[in-house]
Amino acid sequence: QTVQIRHLLDPLLDEFRLLARQKALQIRGKFSDWQVESDSTYLRRIVQNILSNAVKYTPKGKVLISCRRRGGQLLLQIWDSGPGIAEQELRHIFDDFYRVDSTARGQQGVGLGLGVVQRMARLLGHKIEVRSTVGKGTVFSLWLPLSPQRREAGKAELGTDATTQLPDWTVC
Ligand code: ATP
Ligand code: MG
Repeated sequence: QTVQIRHLLDPLLDEFRLLARQKALQIRGKFSDWQVESDSTYLRRIVQNILSNAVKYTPKGKVLISCRRRGGQLLLQIWDSGPGIAEQELRHIFDDFYRVDSTARGQQGVGLGLGVVQRMARLLGHKIEVRSTVGKGTVFSLWLPLSPQRREAGKAELGTDATTQLPDWTVC
C-alpha cells in the first residue's frame, strides 16, 4: 500500500500539539511530500505510539519529526528533548509491560505501546532503532521503503531536505 507521509503525519501532529500546549513543549514537523510502501493503519499506530511517548515523557522543550531520504529509503525520525533512557533500560523498552521507573512514575501507561510498535514494524518489514542520552533526549528512527514512482521526485526534493540542519539538541 502506498502511504502519503504528509497525509499520515499532519493530523497526528495536530492531535499531539493540543496535548503539548498544556506544557512548555513545542512540536515541529520537517518533511515534504514523500510516498512510502507501508500500511497506513499500522504506520499511523507506530508513529502515534512513539510520538505519544515523546510528548508524555518530555516535560518541556521540543519534539521533532523529520524525514530524510537515505538511498531508496525514507528515514523517519522522532526526536525529543526529554529525560532520555539509560543504556541498561534501553534494551528492555520494547518488552511488554516494561516501564522505566524513574521516568514513567506519575505518568499513565501500561508499558505496551512500544511492544505494539515493534510487532507492527516487524510485520511490515520496517527497521526501527532507538538512541538516547540521559538528560538530553531520545530519537526513534524508522526506515521506510520509498514508493518507486516517487524516487525520482524524491531526488528533486533532495536539495531542500539534505540541507535541512537538524537542531543542536539532537542526541547522536
Ligand atoms: P503505554 O504506551 O502502554 O501507554 P508506556 O508509555 O509506559 O505505556 P511504552 O510506550 O511501551 O509504555 O514505553 C515503555 C517505557 O519506555 C515507558 O514507560 C518509558 O519509561 C520509556 N520511554 C518510552 N519512550 C520514551 C521517551 N521518548 N523518553 C523517555 N522514556 C521513554
Ligand atoms: Mg507509550
